[in-house]
Amino acid sequence: MNVTPKKKIKYFNSIDKLQNLSGEEKISLKKVTETFAFRATDYYLSLINWQDKNDPIKKLIIPDVKELQKWGEKDPSYEKSYTVAPGLQHKYTQTALFLIGPTCFGYCRFCFRKRLFMEDTHEILIDVKPALDYISKHHEIQNVLLTGGDPLVLSTSKLKMILTKLAEIKHLINIRIGTKALAYNPFRVSTDPELLDLFKDINKKGKRIHIVAQFDHEREFTKHSRKAINLLIESGCVMLTQMPLLRGINDSPLTLSNLWNTAVNAGVTPYYLFQCRPTVGNKPFAVPIEEGYRIFEQAKMNCSGLAKRIKFVMSHATGKIEMVALTEKHIILKYHQAADPKLIGKTMIFKRNPNAYWLEDYTELVDEYKIENPFI
Ligand code: SF4
Repeated sequence: MNVTPKKKIKYFNSIDKLQNLSGEEKISLKKVTETFAFRATDYYLSLINWQDKNDPIKKLIIPDVKELQKWGEKDPSYEKSYTVAPGLQHKYTQTALFLIGPTCFGYCRFCFRKRLFMEDTHEILIDVKPALDYISKHHEIQNVLLTGGDPLVLSTSKLKMILTKLAEIKHLINIRIGTKALAYNPFRVSTDPELLDLFKDINKKGKRIHIVAQFDHEREFTKHSRKAINLLIESGCVMLTQMPLLRGINDSPLTLSNLWNTAVNAGVTPYYLFQCRPTVGNKPFAVPIEEGYRIFEQAKMNCSGLAKRIKFVMSHATGKIEMVALTEKHIILKYHQAADPKLIGKTMIFKRNPNAYWLEDYTELVDEYKIENPFI
């Protein structure tokens, strides 16, 4: 498949220029954008059905005054505490995470890293050398995740510099790139042969690139995003998708199963469904955990095993916790991944709380079971 000619994407960094919003709406939303930044591409805005006030694509990118409700924290997963070099976090033994920059092609209203767009931060990558030195010295790190902000906002030459240096580190085997470019600006991929050649080259060197694309609704799988996906697959990348569970956007079993089945058909494996983090500005999007678990299980009933590979997880400060089961009285949670390796596999049974949004909302621990790991 050939790449298409360069397409000039237009960015909107202010709601003032949006023709489909009334003057009154712009005035009330201005208060929101003074706190939480707005950014969108003309391409993504063209996917909105402006006649439908509940349009999920609109809810995803257009500010809402409800974001100003007091709720949550700026960094609910305490990511800062895992920063080991500027722009590099090391939380899980085998994986290091680059916070590559403070910009995305568009700003999802529910972003859990919106702190990066709100203030100057020392968390992002400025000089790659200290981060590379850290990874080189830590032989237990086999995986690197580039995230942000969106790594694909970087120029191809800058990405080439980073990826080529990573590829020289012997103990690294997988490079993950977290991106929403395929939804916001798929032309970033489909019109850049150098980027595709770079990925091909890194894959040929035996460092597999896994593209972890965020798709939150099936309507984001347009012919343009599918073309970009096909080109990435042709260049040897493995394609995965993850998304948060979002009120008004994908919080119904049918919407979720359509999203996952569409993803599988496009060549993208559903990977994680995230509990919406209690981040400032995110109250309108949050779904309580137990309601979310029911939606998740019902959605899986409409899927084959291909889409059912997805897990429903909470990215907690202590680790990635999987929502495993609900009984009449209890919820069962399990550490899928943990900063403290001794916690991995730990199962916790709590008394149910239908108003729980996060682990701390479960206060009555009924039982716990630790898997004894002989290697620790
Ligand atoms: S693409 Fe990711 S980092 Fe960027 S705004 Fe959306 S959720 Fe946040």
